[in-house]
Amino acid sequence: MQRRHLLLGGSAALLATTLPGCGGGGADAGTADTMASTSDGLSSAAGVGRTTTTTGTTATAAKARVIVVGGGMAGATVAKYLRLWSGNTIDVTLVDRNARYTSNIMSSMVLTGQRTLASLGYGYGTLASQYGVKFVADEVLAIDPVNTTVTLRNGGVLKADRIVLAPGIAFDAVPGLSDPTRMPHAWQAGAQTTLLAQQLAAMPAGGTVALTIPATPYRCPPGPYERACLLADWLRQRKPGSKLLVLDANADIVTERDNFSRAFLGLHGQVIEYRPNAVIDHVDPAAMALYLADGSRVSANVVNLIPRQRAGALVATTGLATATGGRFVPVDVLSYACTVPGAQNVHVIGDASATTQPKAGHIANQEAKVCADAIVRLVSGGLPDTGPVTNSACFSTITMSQASWLTAGFQYDPVARAMAPVAAAGGASDGWSGDHFEDMLTWFKALMADSFA
Ligand SMILES: Cc1cc2nc3c(=O)[nH]c(=O)nc-3n(C[C@H](O)[C@H](O)[C@H](O)COP(=O)(O)OP(=O)(O)OC[C@H]3O[C@@H](n4cnc5c(N)ncnc54)[C@H](O)[C@@H]3O)c2cc1C
Repeated sequence: MQRRHLLLGGSAALLATTLPGCGGGGADAGTADTMASTSDGLSSAAGVGRTTTTTGTTATAAKARVIVVGGGMAGATVAKYLRLWSGNTIDVTLVDRNARYTSNIMSSMVLTGQRTLASLGYGYGTLASQYGVKFVADEVLAIDPVNTTVTLRNGGVLKADRIVLAPGIAFDAVPGLSDPTRMPHAWQAGAQTTLLAQQLAAMPAGGTVALTIPATPYRCPPGPYERACLLADWLRQRKPGSKLLVLDANADIVTERDNFSRAFLGLHGQVIEYRPNAVIDHVDPAAMALYLADGSRVSANVVNLIPRQRAGALVATTGLATATGGRFVPVDVLSYACTVPGAQNVHVIGDASATTQPKAGHIANQEAKVCADAIVRLVSGGLPDTGPVTNSACFSTITMSQASWLTAGFQYDPVARAMAPVAAAGGASDGWSGDHFEDMLTWFKALMADSFA
């Protein structure tokens, strides 16, 4: 009961700070710097290192053991709340290939020079020191869903009672793109984000940028549109006379249509040219050319090519990605247990799972809490809560200093056995403002603190 209240309370708190959206931006590097300063201390806190071959049972043989694969928005949150809500009785090991997480949220502002990648970094030290999560910095090469084991790149094998997979996304290969650095996606914050920022900075005034939007479902539905708006504002100020060609594989703007269409046609009408149904067939990186399925050809000085997406490579190779045309993992949203036969002790949360909810960091945080609550109940011989609710808030940068917002709430529908949108809990801002931009920074800080601190 208390956990349920905490879940609802956490949602309400995040909502109360500012409703909405899924977008990046924030010139407040100080906010993130504060967060980053709470990081690390891995070796002292971990207790499980690169040479580990088994984990979990040293202190209490009967302790339930959970391995979380992927320490992003979903994985960090589930690890924290498994410890918190079990009263520290569940042994939790969190594995990520990187010792620090870089937030995708706000990362489009690295492209405009408003933030640094370093300001978006989060360590796992607080999860270890405050909650007793054991962190392992290693890559997971394979999992065995039946025997619930995880094989690490270092050769170690971890064994648990349950596995939570939260590996995020992988990208489809783009025909012709032999050198991805020529047309970076920058859709997984990191080296490609830096590269795209450099390419934009080096572009001459009066140049052309092309930004491609993949077919749904993809990570952060408003994200490409907000990036387009942000870049349009930056181009107008920093590269006068430049154009931004938005090539959308979808038939129309997929979310927050009112605000984005107003921005594309009005505020950014002199910079943005929007083309729906623009499916990329193949590319010629040497010529910086894109060939579309309708036979047309487009070239640009800088190409931000965001490919179609699927669950992180690990789940695909394990054979669990059987939903959404083989792209994502089917789950029971009462517990996020995988519904592929034989994999019921593997839970999949965040962008890798196939649900009716958007692929977003805020929803990843919410799915993680539902999953943690369910696992705590299951390992004590109970059943998952039958009435979970989740919410998603997303802000979108419409200019370098103004934002809009979008929010959605979901409730379990026992007939459809899916999370159904709650009309009264959804909405979007009427336009954009500097106040919403400030709210976005508050929301971001609260979300990241809830996941990593
Ligand atoms: C530009 C941009 C802006 C965005 N803005 C917003 C926003 O405003 N609001 C919002 O809610 N969402 C936003 N999002 C979406 C949000 O970032 C994702 O939905 C969220 O990060 C998904 O969380 P996740 O845990 O599933 O994946 P991730 O956060 O990507 O975490 C996955 C983790 O798994 C690790 N991993 C993967 N495979 C392995 C392996 N084999 N072994 C070990 N570790 C592994 C990775 O290193 C990574 O740390 C945005 C995304 C982008 C790209």
